[in-house]
Amino acid sequence: MRWSRAFLPVLKESPADAQIVSHKLMLRAGLVRQTAAGIYAWLPLGFRVLKKIEQIVREEQDRAGAQEMLMPTLQSADLWRESGRYEAYGPEMLRIRDRHDREMLYGPTNEEMITVLFRDEVKSYRDLPRTLYHIQWKFRDEVRPRFGVMRGREFLMKDAYSFDLDEAAARQSYYTQMLAYLRTFQRMGIRAVPMKAASGPIGGDLSHEFIVLAPTGESEVFYDAAYEEFDWNQAGLNYGDETGLQGLFDRVNSTYAATDETHDVAKWEVLPEGNRRTGRGIEVGHIFYFGDKYSKAMGLKVSGRDGTPVTPMMGSYGVGVSRLVGAIIEASHDDAGIVWPEAVAPWQVGIVTMRADDGASVAAADSLYTELIRAGVEVLYDDRDERGGVKLGSMDLIGLPWQVVVGPRGIASGTVELKRRSTGEREELSLESALARLTE
Ligand code: ATP
Ligand code: MG
Repeated sequence: MRWSRAFLPVLKESPADAQIVSHKLMLRAGLVRQTAAGIYAWLPLGFRVLKKIEQIVREEQDRAGAQEMLMPTLQSADLWRESGRYEAYGPEMLRIRDRHDREMLYGPTNEEMITVLFRDEVKSYRDLPRTLYHIQWKFRDEVRPRFGVMRGREFLMKDAYSFDLDEAAARQSYYTQMLAYLRTFQRMGIRAVPMKAASGPIGGDLSHEFIVLAPTGESEVFYDAAYEEFDWNQAGLNYGDETGLQGLFDRVNSTYAATDETHDVAKWEVLPEGNRRTGRGIEVGHIFYFGDKYSKAMGLKVSGRDGTPVTPMMGSYGVGVSRLVGAIIEASHDDAGIVWPEAVAPWQVGIVTMRADDGASVAAADSLYTELIRAGVEVLYDDRDERGGVKLGSMDLIGLPWQVVVGPRGIASGTVELKRRSTGEREELSLESALARLTE
């Protein structure tokens, strides 16, 4: 992409209405614009990041054996009357009437819909286990939408739902998602610690929130320093390895981590003092087992192995896809702007010409741009007729992992400057070597 043709509205000043750094940077670097309270338009740069995050979530869900589908945003009130949640949900639910005066709602979540879709198609224990997911916009009429996309009213969520024959099988589905979540967040370049969460209607130990540590997080967190050494990838563990997955769960469960909502002072004080870590965090995911809560209420049954009807046991697994854009920025920025982890960066490389009126450096930058595109590298080329310093500032602000600075002085001696955004390291090298390095 040539910057001269792009829609990348960067702001010089920090917007006064933004309180936390990610919100400020998302506005300044032109990722989003608010169109109504808690509702955002995703501009090209933000949209590219959102899609990258979504794709990582999708690949890890697919790898874990979940199947993608797509359910609508609008739902009928009658569906929610079946579970009893239409009355119970409260003012966070946006209720709408259509032209025939039918009661509708903009889905805040999809347990009811998936349960009914599944109920109407499955008959036997052979149809289990299944885990289905979609990545779809949700609406929750939050009292206080704030911090930009972190607590929006309309937001993008990955929500998965598992159906199993009994609780033991449902635990395996839960452990499978736990592993998928560890891998998902790790791939995005962030660490999200699984913390014990309030367990809701049926009690038990199967509810975890995944929390990214950041000083601006809404929750206070308490965790064991052992998480600093944790193996987030679990590379040796395979899906389907029941003993291994149980081992992972036991490990997580026995390594203390809790938010202020579930903090257990007695257990905390058992930890050696040097291992007690406190801070704040952002919830980017929540996995949750709720047994037969919806299957029972909505009449989902299959015939079991001996022919008697069985009510499947369910869990749901959410990832805040749009919230993650803000959370990643909270975890990865400096005074000059965003520092994107490579896996979610909108482009990998930014080329900057220092003097738009210098024919030789423009020709060199043009050819580098063409070669990088030919090699399949995602590149943003700042070819604008602006002062070099301004362009370098914008490039730092939008945070691409690599910058190539092309100026008259370097080109006279056949070199360009390659800068790594995350460390600030710079290196002078020939155009050919820069190209070779970036296409490695
Ligand atoms: P919170 O406690 O932050 O209000 P929640 O517990 O209501 O979230 P879940 O129903 O567990 O949220 O939703 C799954 C995920 O969706 C959350 O982990 C979070 O990342 C994201 N999410 C929830 N509410 C919002 C929101 N208003 N804006 C952006 N993302 C959200
Ligand atoms: Mg939650």
